[in-house]
Amino acid sequence: MKKFLLPLCLVLGGSLHAQISGPHNEAYTIGNPDTPCVTAAQREAIFEKLARAKQDLIEKGILPNPQTSLLGGGGPHPLFEWPIEKDPAAPYTAVWGLSNYVDHNASFPNQIQDWNCGTKSYDTSNGYNHQGMDIFLWPFSWYQFQNNYARVIAAAPGTIIYKDDGNFDMNCALGGGDWNAIYVMHADGSIAWYGHMKSGTLTAKGPGDTVAAGEFLGNVGSSGSSTGPHLHFEVYNNAGQLVDPYVGTCNLWTSANDSWWAAQKPYIEPKINAVSTHSGVPTFPTCPQMEVTKYKDSFLSNEVVYAMVFLTDQTVGSSGLLSMKRPNGTIAFTQPFNSTTAYNASYWWWSFGSASFDTYGLWTLSFSYNGNTVEHQFVYGSNLAVGDLQTETKVRFYPNPARDRIAFSEDVATLDVFQIDGKKLQIPHDGISADVSGLPNGVFLLRGTTASGRPFTSKLTK
Ligand SMILES: [Zn+2]
Repeated sequence: MKKFLLPLCLVLGGSLHAQISGPHNEAYTIGNPDTPCVTAAQREAIFEKLARAKQDLIEKGILPNPQTSLLGGGGPHPLFEWPIEKDPAAPYTAVWGLSNYVDHNASFPNQIQDWNCGTKSYDTSNGYNHQGMDIFLWPFSWYQFQNNYARVIAAAPGTIIYKDDGNFDMNCALGGGDWNAIYVMHADGSIAWYGHMKSGTLTAKGPGDTVAAGEFLGNVGSSGSSTGPHLHFEVYNNAGQLVDPYVGTCNLWTSANDSWWAAQKPYIEPKINAVSTHSGVPTFPTCPQMEVTKYKDSFLSNEVVYAMVFLTDQTVGSSGLLSMKRPNGTIAFTQPFNSTTAYNASYWWWSFGSASFDTYGLWTLSFSYNGNTVEHQFVYGSNLAVGDLQTETKVRFYPNPARDRIAFSEDVATLDVFQIDGKKLQIPHDGISADVSGLPNGVFLLRGTTASGRPFTSKLTK
């Protein structure tokens, strides 16, 4: 899998406001490599290792002997779950896109046919036809790599028969040596390969240990012949023949209605991977340096807000809608999004100057695309965190709005008062009431802890 940046910088459509600019975009194109993910020699070595490991597990009685048992040599094939999931800490809707399927056309080079009769695959001039699926990380593959945001999970239950770990995992070019991988045999004797993983993140389980479907196997890396963090998922049936798990017109290996997926995904799946706010346009330094994300969720009133959306499988003719909602939920800005180009991975941005915002508080950036909507909240006009403004009133007080003095519904131990721009003010309080007479008119956040030690944030209007 090869990646290169294709700067396009399109400006589609005019701005609705003098201080709103965009959309602008750059496509992050996943191209085709000219050498295989796994060389022929590496694949041979893996086959030998797996055969030895399998024999060893049979002799130890961990795997059933195919000579004396029907198990391990037949039965229905597994039904796979998707082999990547996002870590709960990942601030994304989705962490991946798909760049390559298995190439069914035995001719080469540039003779490509995937299961759906398309060309989402590759081959090489020395006769390699891509033998697996490549699932790449998006957005910010190296940032995801550093943060372990993409988890490789077992697509089906089985027994680990071998694993490779400890190999360098920040490769940017093909021909990068051995990968880190886990090989899982299923009850019918078929085997799934999970390749290019991040060194040291692999499960502590080893040969002979069983894994459940969905069990964590390791994080995505760029070990082996790889130009960036991605998972290569390759499958063999119990006769040792390569399997393409998809059912489709041009996959002659798998009969109709016999998908190896529990729920086969569509060939192309246009989706929103992330919606976020930034201090500027992120940069993508030379591989394998981590991207500079420029994430920012709290903006002072003189700062420009960069709104960004990250898409995978963007198709020609697809459309969406960007909108900005005020703290009270009314819409301040909308702009239709019309796709005229197809991209594996793309990002789009709009910039909003201070005249775009007519009120301070918790704003919502919303993007709808292909039937899905993803929202992202940010604070405008304050350096308070999003969480500060999201917090519901937890300590009530009366009256509100107030002029001179407020009385709390429960005893308060500590109390701080913040203006909406984040400036901290002091007011006298005695644990059951507070003097607000010295505050100017406006909206304030009261933050503190109750006498029982519970933190609270409440909004005061004066
Ligand atoms: Zn691959």
